[in-house]
Amino acid sequence: MTSVSGLSGERFEVVVVGGGLAGLATAASLCSQGCHSILVLESETVPGAHSSGKNAGLVRQAAEDPQTTKLCVRGAELIRQRHQQCPDLFRQSGSLIISDGNHVPASSWAQVEHQCLSEDEVRRHYPELQAWPGGQAYWTPTDGIIDVPKLLGSLMEELVSGGGAVSFGAAAGRVRYLDSGGFQIEVHDGSSRNRIIGEILCNQVVIANGAWAAEFSAASGMPISLNVTNRGCLITESGGFGIQERPWIWSDLAGWYLRQMGDSLLWSACEEEESAAGVLNLSTDLADYWREKVKSSWGSSGQSLNCLSSWVGQRTFCADRKFLLGADSRCDGWHWAVGLGGHGVTCALAVGERVAGSVLGDDTPADWAWSEDRFVSSSKSLS
Ligand SMILES: Cc1cc2nc3c(=O)[nH]c(=O)nc-3n(C[C@H](O)[C@H](O)[C@H](O)COP(=O)(O)OP(=O)(O)OC[C@H]3O[C@@H](n4cnc5c(N)ncnc54)[C@H](O)[C@@H]3O)c2cc1C
Repeated sequence: MTSVSGLSGERFEVVVVGGGLAGLATAASLCSQGCHSILVLESETVPGAHSSGKNAGLVRQAAEDPQTTKLCVRGAELIRQRHQQCPDLFRQSGSLIISDGNHVPASSWAQVEHQCLSEDEVRRHYPELQAWPGGQAYWTPTDGIIDVPKLLGSLMEELVSGGGAVSFGAAAGRVRYLDSGGFQIEVHDGSSRNRIIGEILCNQVVIANGAWAAEFSAASGMPISLNVTNRGCLITESGGFGIQERPWIWSDLAGWYLRQMGDSLLWSACEEEESAAGVLNLSTDLADYWREKVKSSWGSSGQSLNCLSSWVGQRTFCADRKFLLGADSRCDGWHWAVGLGGHGVTCALAVGERVAGSVLGDDTPADWAWSEDRFVSSSKSLS
């Protein structure tokens, strides 16, 4: 860990704002490609304190559009490769997804190795689905579950051993474009935002601060619009479900998912409530809502499970629900790694690879880049 006060006035090739999965994966990928002058600024005192530490850890490749699916497939491939060097990073449990063409189009499924399962086969894996009315089900053998703290740890290790640096408790403030080229970034104390603790310089900046990205960037004259939504996860005892190796299961139609987590079960009732960065509440009681939601599939089998703990996390979306990645044509040297919605764990390494490529000069495909078409906003220039 690097203290910003000791770095004040120093110039880096790249500064990454945000030490969640998007920021760390980008920084680690840059290091592995020979760019060693990197500083990650993270306002919290640990990596992944927000969305990256408050998710379900599912690796799901089939997504709601083919472009996102492509990144998810690449992300899952990179996770499996990393697992070879990082034991127990990934468990290839496979997945059962109950869905239809409104949720996952055929053009997404065409990219993912899968089989369609009969209702009987689904019930063989999950006999507890007492009230499930049936539906189209897909088995994806290469999906699974990732140990997110391990992934964050391995990215930190790669970054630091590659010569990069991370400052925790250091919040990036206003970014100024310098006439001489590059940027000057005010750095504030993460716990008392009014206190400036230093100013650093860099040639390129990567914005990877999740739910805070819109507000942060607008303050520097680079407006974008993002929607921040809240979703809960709930840990229950395993009850009659027992402890068995089973694929995780997700009903896109009914809006819930379930995976095993040690001796317990992790559920989500797939809430999607509009919120603001850092405001973590839901309009209804999480456990009550979950019990009601799963009733139509699990019948009484879900109702008797005791809740052990729960949390709420944030998912951040662009209006078209696609990520915002790579160079911004409004400002030389400004790159995005935001809007990862509900796929940021699966895609983290693919996002890192792609954004690092953009920093190193690759073109950004229009699907991911900032454009007037995607972001209706008044673009101002940095001053
Ligand atoms: C309940 C839930 C379940 C999910 N389940 C899954 C799943 O199973 N599979 C999957 O693929 N995805 C899942 N997701 C989505 C995934 O968690 C996110 O897409 C991903 O974590 C986003 O990572 P990020 O790095 O963009 O954001 P974050 O992890 O939020 O990182 C942003 C970081 O920026 C920091 N920051 C903010 N402002 C500043 C500043 N000014 N200066 C410095 N640092 C700053 C923040 O402290 C934060 O650490 C889930 C999300 C939720 C909420």
